[in-house]
Amino acid sequence: MTEVLLKVDGLKKHFPITGGVLGKQTGSVKAVDDISFWVNKGETLGLVGESGCGKSTTGRMLMRLIDPTEGQVVFEGKNLVTLSDNEMRKTRKDMQMVFQDPFASLNPRHTVEKILEEPLIVHGIGTKKERKQMVNEMLEVVGLSSYHAKRYPHQFSGGQRQRIGIARALMTRPKLIIADEPVSALDVSIQSQVLNLLEDLQKEFQLTYIFIAHDLGVVKHISDRVGVMYLGRLVEITDADRLYEKPLHPYTRALLSAVPIPDPAVKREMELLTGDIPSPANPPKGCAFHTRCKECMEICKTDRPELREIEPGHFAACHLYS
Ligand code: SF4
Repeated sequence: MTEVLLKVDGLKKHFPITGGVLGKQTGSVKAVDDISFWVNKGETLGLVGESGCGKSTTGRMLMRLIDPTEGQVVFEGKNLVTLSDNEMRKTRKDMQMVFQDPFASLNPRHTVEKILEEPLIVHGIGTKKERKQMVNEMLEVVGLSSYHAKRYPHQFSGGQRQRIGIARALMTRPKLIIADEPVSALDVSIQSQVLNLLEDLQKEFQLTYIFIAHDLGVVKHISDRVGVMYLGRLVEITDADRLYEKPLHPYTRALLSAVPIPDPAVKREMELLTGDIPSPANPPKGCAFHTRCKECMEICKTDRPELREIEPGHFAACHLYS
């Protein structure tokens, strides 16, 4: 039976824009503007969109690394937004993050052993001896060796550093991993190795993933469901197979055009994205995508489409389906 692990409701993050000598608030950047979704236990939800769409801000709000302006994040029945700092710290044992740039997120002055031991110390797990053994075991699990424990991050390749980042996230045996562009900084040849590792670990540790990426190609094989974000909002969300076979939203279709098809017999119409993404400080009225949409109608310029269930389990925010 499917069980919901995380439920996000009406989540917003508005950053104030200040100006003038008095530093008064003159507006706000709506980095995330009222998004709702859920993640089932054991599944991978891909969150995709161009840079500035709010996907990374969403990931950070789920971990409460930044506080939401409004909305709820319910994890295992607890609303994380209202938890005290102390309760939130304890909850982070069960939800961890893997970052895009492992070099920036690993302390260069600490050995790998110290980096991996730290989350265990923070959560009061094990004796010194047990922690050392857990570090060595985890290094093997992510495809490194116990002899790597005494080395420093700069002594590793990019792919190995990301394995260390993944090992660190797994040390407390979390239930949910939020991976924010975990392979974007890696060579293409290394990307698939890290993706395969993440898939193997998901089975071994019964993990649930939120996998954030800027292109639909990367999340295709790893995701069970995919949500597409544009200018701080979810514009489409459904099962991965359905999204790739029958995308409903014109923005999703444009993003998919950029994904290479391995089978040359299969033809897909190219819908190249034109124009720049508008500023989230001053988003277009109506449908935020209307300035770049080839199917824009009059109503799109004035009325904002809500995310609606167009077909069972397939949600999209577009007037084409009103
Ligand atoms: Fe395009 Fe209109 Fe749909 Fe927006 S609502 S994606 S402008 S057709």
